[in-house]
Amino acid sequence: MDKKLIYLDHAATTPMDPLVLEAIMPYLTDQFGNASSLYSLGRTNREAVEEARAHVARLLNAKTEEIYFTSGGSESDNWAIYGVAKARQAKGNHIITTKIEHHAVLEPCHALEKMGYEVTYVPVDANGLVSVEDVANAITEKTILISVMHANNEVGTIEPVEEIGKIAKEKGIHFHVDAVQTVGHIPVDVNAINCDSLALSAHKFYGPKGVGAIYIRKGARVSPFIIGGGQEGSKRAGTYNVPGIVGMGKAAELALKRMADEATVTTKLRDQLMAGIIAKIPDIKLNGDPVKRLPNNVNFSFAGVEGESMILLLDMQGVCSSSGSACTSGSLDPSHVLLAMGLSHETSHGSLRLTLGKDITEDDIQFVLDTLPGIITRLRDMSPIYSAGEGCDCGPGGCG
Ligand SMILES: *Cc1c(COP(=O)(O)O)cnc(C)c1O
Repeated sequence: MDKKLIYLDHAATTPMDPLVLEAIMPYLTDQFGNASSLYSLGRTNREAVEEARAHVARLLNAKTEEIYFTSGGSESDNWAIYGVAKARQAKGNHIITTKIEHHAVLEPCHALEKMGYEVTYVPVDANGLVSVEDVANAITEKTILISVMHANNEVGTIEPVEEIGKIAKEKGIHFHVDAVQTVGHIPVDVNAINCDSLALSAHKFYGPKGVGAIYIRKGARVSPFIIGGGQEGSKRAGTYNVPGIVGMGKAAELALKRMADEATVTTKLRDQLMAGIIAKIPDIKLNGDPVKRLPNNVNFSFAGVEGESMILLLDMQGVCSSSGSACTSGSLDPSHVLLAMGLSHETSHGSLRLTLGKDITEDDIQFVLDTLPGIITRLRDMSPIYSAGEGCDCGPGGCG
């Protein structure tokens, strides 16, 4: 019999909820109309889109007309960065972001630098925390955009976005938040955060892949990113992805109901997993803030071990895990997030991310705690660089 799959990579993507699939099915079959068409087959589709929009708005405490559907988190981030840079170029050319953003924010910033914009990449502390003061001090008269993620996808650190939002608002600077890791998992309130735009993605909270949304505050100046037809108030062209949007709406509706209970359960299991790993395996380092942390994120570096090897051996035991982020695994570059937190290349390579979800049980956690120590011992026995008792990133001369 096949081994049970223990899926511990919810930061990369989540399984679609069966109720989401059920909601989508009619729109993949009979209800195939174009949501912009006037006959009833089109109109029912349009109504379904608008109902989904209302669910997403409610989840974020936003107004319905402030939600625009996109193809996912990456498009939403790209739209915000390029759209603000373009709309506000007469006001200035300076952007502030952080060193630990997702590539969907960093790459547009790099591209804008080549086009003559100036970008400040604010550093983080050893826990991956951005300092509000550093952001405030980076502001110049030319600053038009501040982009800070709500929680980091690799190490789970939750950033002080409310405080940063307050400063941005005082200064009249557009504040964008990549909330792809938090929406549907912890409360996200666009008014409490004081953001002008916020990115989210359905497949990160039990919805379908390839659909996301962006919140854009009423009155905020953001140029359109995809132009063509007049959909989404001429701000985002393209025939409505009705099945995806309906699925996202259902996922948002479910998240609002279940989020608090899920966080309670995952926090408890996360803490068991962290405590168990610390108790059973020597020479390790917890990555990310121990307190200001996503309820489902566990990230450790193991001295003398390669992340890729851990993933492959865990996979042989039916456990899905990740090292760094899914987007960077497969490449040999160490994680830009771990490097920004001051980890050495070597320690960055030895990192393992386990991200829990709503269906993870205590038995699953126990299985990982029974399996992982043996895997680490096996890899360390073969390692040319590991010698026991060195700790992990213990400073110059140590394993780092
Ligand atoms: C997954 C992720 C994205 C990209 O979202 P997609 O919908 O996969 O394009 C952006 N930012 C963060 C923080 C993410 O975790």
